[in-house]
Amino acid sequence: MGSATVVASVQGKQPLFSFGVISDVQYADIPDGRSFIGVPRYYRHSLLVLQRAVQNWNNHQKLKFAINFGDIVDGFCPKDQSLNVVKKIVNEFDKFNGPVYHMIGNHCLYNLPRDKLLPLLKIPSTDRHAYYDFSPTPEYRFVVLDGYDISAIGWPQDHPHTLEALKFLREKNPNTEKNSPAGLLGLERRFLMFNGAVGKEQMEWLDSILQGATKLKQKVVVCCHLPLDPDATSQEALLWNYNEVMDVIHRYNCVKVCLAGHDHKGGHSIDAHGIHHRVFEAALECPPGTDAFGYIDVYDNKLSLVGSDRMQSTDMYFSP
Ligand SMILES: [Zn+2]
Repeated sequence: MGSATVVASVQGKQPLFSFGVISDVQYADIPDGRSFIGVPRYYRHSLLVLQRAVQNWNNHQKLKFAINFGDIVDGFCPKDQSLNVVKKIVNEFDKFNGPVYHMIGNHCLYNLPRDKLLPLLKIPSTDRHAYYDFSPTPEYRFVVLDGYDISAIGWPQDHPHTLEALKFLREKNPNTEKNSPAGLLGLERRFLMFNGAVGKEQMEWLDSILQGATKLKQKVVVCCHLPLDPDATSQEALLWNYNEVMDVIHRYNCVKVCLAGHDHKGGHSIDAHGIHHRVFEAALECPPGTDAFGYIDVYDNKLSLVGSDRMQSTDMYFSP
């Protein structure tokens, strides 16, 4: 590092490192449609958004890695095309000149079971779980949570995690259609089949990672397809046990920012412990010619999201 760089870095002008972000590409080779509440979805155009994202990240030249926040393929993708579509989208991500970290979303799991999906996404996994961590620099650690650990989708039908999820949904959601929040009030509206929970083992793993990061004086960024704070998202998009996950996170001071996808309109909040929650705007909902992707400059005391078009730029300050 030259002396000019050192001075710039001390003054906070030069990021420690930067990384690309995109969420909910939800590509499918089908005509445009709408969500169940009528929001337009541009299934084919989302591929162009991803291509422009990768081009933008490559032009930037200083991005250390990129993160895909899940749902790369839509549930309406014809099932005989699922495998090829996932390969096609992963191939687009691979045009980025650096590592890409993926996470799984509900739409990925509608298309392919975990044992097919995780190797394609190169997700380091034990026992078909999709949570992992990495440390791009000594100062920072990224934790990627598996929000569909306890879930009625993606595991074999007789898997203990499927059975646990179905039992949970029967208790919490009286509707026959378990994706309907009809009659559920307030925060109960998250008890829907398209969401999931972090299981006991993953919770213990998270605790040990945060303990380790604290010892190493690392700042932690938590990534999960499902949002973790009610003020950053619709209640219908929250992780089932977001409160238990946040209880673990709040035991430590190392987590500074939580990033998520899934709630397509996007959102931002700061919780009572000063942790930022940023939910990314979906690539799927960009009308032709518009974009939703970005990159994040990482500093000692803030993460600065530089968004394109529909992705709002956000400065997320925290105590170092
Ligand atoms: Zn989703």
